[in-house]
Amino acid sequence: MILLRVSDLKTYFYASRGVVRGVDGLSYELNSGETLGLVGESGCGKTVSALSILRLIQQPPGRIIGGEIIFDGDDLLMYTPSQIRKVRGKGISMIFQDPMTSLNPLFTIGNQISEMFRLHEGLSRKEALDRSIEMLRLVHISSPEKRIHEYPHHLSGGMRQRVMIAIALSCSPRLLIADEPTTALDVTIQAQILDLMLSLKDEMGTSIIFITHDLGVIAETAQRVVVIYGGREMEKGDVRRVFKDPIHPYTIGLLNSLPRLTMKKEKRKKDEKLHEIPGIGPTYSDISKGCRFHHRCPHVMDICREYEPDLTELDDGDGVRCWLRQ
Ligand code: SF4
Repeated sequence: MILLRVSDLKTYFYASRGVVRGVDGLSYELNSGETLGLVGESGCGKTVSALSILRLIQQPPGRIIGGEIIFDGDDLLMYTPSQIRKVRGKGISMIFQDPMTSLNPLFTIGNQISEMFRLHEGLSRKEALDRSIEMLRLVHISSPEKRIHEYPHHLSGGMRQRVMIAIALSCSPRLLIADEPTTALDVTIQAQILDLMLSLKDEMGTSIIFITHDLGVIAETAQRVVVIYGGREMEKGDVRRVFKDPIHPYTIGLLNSLPRLTMKKEKRKKDEKLHEIPGIGPTYSDISKGCRFHHRCPHVMDICREYEPDLTELDDGDGVRCWLRQ
């Protein structure tokens, strides 16, 4: 069953130097109970699309100018500000990359978790604090009775991210959007946080959208993946198929940029440098005509410079946007 359908979403930013198309015609679906990965380089539109779902785009300079975001049957873009406030936290919640800037340094951990219970479930202060202790226990924070009285700066980076997860999951949302949730953490803590999120997802039946530039995280956590470039999906499909048999030249470029343990030792020594996709991501003027990847594509043809390809549907809901597969 489809929980979220994003269709032809367009979020633009109106700057003095012109219009920046943060998201420009993005479409994808998320099924109930599924983990979906959104991947692409920085600036490709992953985070802007997530903020658009929660209607957290700062206006001005940003504005959602088109598309639909159907969540649980309703178009969130049609909701009033008070309706969307009720969806945040209870229907959809979000974890951001840097827990230090997401937690309020002036309030205790207990205060920040209990606020969710008081706001969405109308609990008393005492009841909300008890539930906050339960949530801290759930995310494996030791001595939760003591921790609720501490401030964010008393905790390590990994513990702060656990607190963010506790806040995000406190009202058992149907959908959790995790935006680079482990990027600011060291590798061992990253693995622990990912394991924790996945086990809580199974326990609570929450669907997850993982936003990351780390394809390794997607390979380990997601069932399906959407590869985004220039604010639009270039390829989408089953994670195993995309990793084993990528079709779009951009997806192939991203996968080739990954260091591989299976690389032969001699080759690793000889080619010390990892493969990289030449050039940089598109600016707004680059995406006015043709395929938005054509400036960097090794297979570019004349038609690619003139016309943007449509998304070609493949088997099982997979799709690719490239003239090589029209
Ligand atoms: Fe490359 Fe052309 Fe395909 Fe774009 S449409 S990815 S430029 S081959």
